Amino acid sequence: MTPSAETSRDFLQRLGVSGPVLPGTSTGQEFFGAGDESLDSVSPIDGGRIARVPVTTRKEYDRVVETAEAAFQLWRERPAPGRGEIIRQIGDELRRHKEDLGRLVALEMGKILEEGKGEVQEMIDICDFAVGQSRMLYGRTMPSERPEHRLYEQWHPLGPVGVISAFNFPVAVYSWNAMIAAVCGDVVIWKPSEKTPVCGVAVQRILARVLERNGLPEGIFNLVQGGRAVGEHLTSDRRIPLISATGSIRMGKEVAQVAGARLGRTILELGGNNAIILTENADLELALRAVVFGAVGTAGQRCTSTRRLIVHDAIFDQVRDRLVQAYEGIRIGNPLEAGTLMGPLIDSDAVRAMGEALEAVQAAGGELVTGGEVLEGEGYESGTYVRPAICIAENHFPIVQEETFAPILYLIRYTELEEAIALQNGVRQGLSSAIFTTNLREAEAFLSARGSDCGIANVNIGTSGAEIGGAFGGEKETGGGRESGSDAWKAYMRRQTNTTNWGAVLPLAQGIEFDV
Ligand code: NAD
Repeated sequence: MTPSAETSRDFLQRLGVSGPVLPGTSTGQEFFGAGDESLDSVSPIDGGRIARVPVTTRKEYDRVVETAEAAFQLWRERPAPGRGEIIRQIGDELRRHKEDLGRLVALEMGKILEEGKGEVQEMIDICDFAVGQSRMLYGRTMPSERPEHRLYEQWHPLGPVGVISAFNFPVAVYSWNAMIAAVCGDVVIWKPSEKTPVCGVAVQRILARVLERNGLPEGIFNLVQGGRAVGEHLTSDRRIPLISATGSIRMGKEVAQVAGARLGRTILELGGNNAIILTENADLELALRAVVFGAVGTAGQRCTSTRRLIVHDAIFDQVRDRLVQAYEGIRIGNPLEAGTLMGPLIDSDAVRAMGEALEAVQAAGGELVTGGEVLEGEGYESGTYVRPAICIAENHFPIVQEETFAPILYLIRYTELEEAIALQNGVRQGLSSAIFTTNLREAEAFLSARGSDCGIANVNIGTSGAEIGGAFGGEKETGGGRESGSDAWKAYMRRQTNTTNWGAVLPLAQGIEFDV
């Protein structure tokens, strides 16, 4: 394997991740990593190695947790707005590194540069949100039924929070968790995906600079590296009260069982199987742009990617033909080059999974309308570039019921809106959904209790590209977790109900008499 040409670029130096071997484990300012085992970070752009990162050993892991526990004792004492001030500075540091970090995301994950920078912007946005939240960790006051009593609740930090993240959002999803957890008074131990370890090191270096400048101790933001085994150190560890895990449904079921066995808390953000309903009243100009972005953006490797398009019979043929035409204009290639709309898939396993899904849909009686080829020739030597595919399918096909993490769009026909909603809900996952219609009744039916069963339901907006201000997550096998905005912060804290008796007598609740 030859080192990727990209490794010579200055931006890696500016991010402090330009060496052939990077120290992987960190308790904040200090980086270490002495394990014999290592992860090879390989760019899906050209198959070149970006760097080698040592896997965190069990001994190092224990050192990280001990340092995190010690840091928690100090961090939780810092007033929440003071914690917010540190997050404000992290936001500023990220602004300075937006271009470079966005470029690294594109290099290591393969999404186009615009989307890579968008991910860093999402980090900046969640920092801004968290700064405001640091002054709004509100508890309620309730009227007590007893005279001269005060009844209220307050929120306290939990301790070290474990964050396990997926390859497809190598930096943004960590920040949704870490920045909110930090203003809540928690310290964080992050295990990035084994496919994007260099993004982990780069983000850790940015955070470390801010902590050091403020004279803060080691252990507030911590990094461990590795795959499933290192993830299991976290999920099985009683010292970690909360695990926030983002990834496949398979992974979520394992995490839920291991953490559940010790009654640890979890936030699970798992796979989706997202649909858009196009009614006969849809504004097709809007709708088709949203469908193409949703299905092809990030090469179909978003948890919110549009995988199913449920189209009214009256417009089905027109929609199919216009999509085929739009797909022909999609420039596929190096995601760092301007004008590219779709980069590579993450690795050869993903390419294989896409090919198998296309075979399965055809074997079930579906039709491949366009795409699915693996691209060859100059610029495509890594074998990870594919043409996005459109298939005509039925919702009940086993392969349509699964999330294939690749750009495959299944077209499904309907005649009545109720049928379309039933199809949209007729999968095990429940992350994101959308309807395109200019008809108020159709839109409101979709949003009503008998409408979409997903965590996200949009009207005249596609399934992907959520803002950080809303709570993000999905139902059913998507895991039920919520991260990012709204009141998602509560998951990172423990609620305490307090009653103070400021009177001179001791009345009991429910009027119980118990005189001794
Ligand atoms: P993955 O499940 O292979 O890995 C995700 C992370 O979990 C990695 O860090 C991995 O090392 C770790 N892991 C795997 N098994 C584990 C175990 N038993 N215990 C502890 N940790 C374990 O997922 P991936 O291929 O990196 O990402 C793609 C998947 O993530 C898709 O299914 C996608 O829909 C999902 N995803 C969901 C969201 C969401 O917010 N709902 C966001 C992004 C990605």
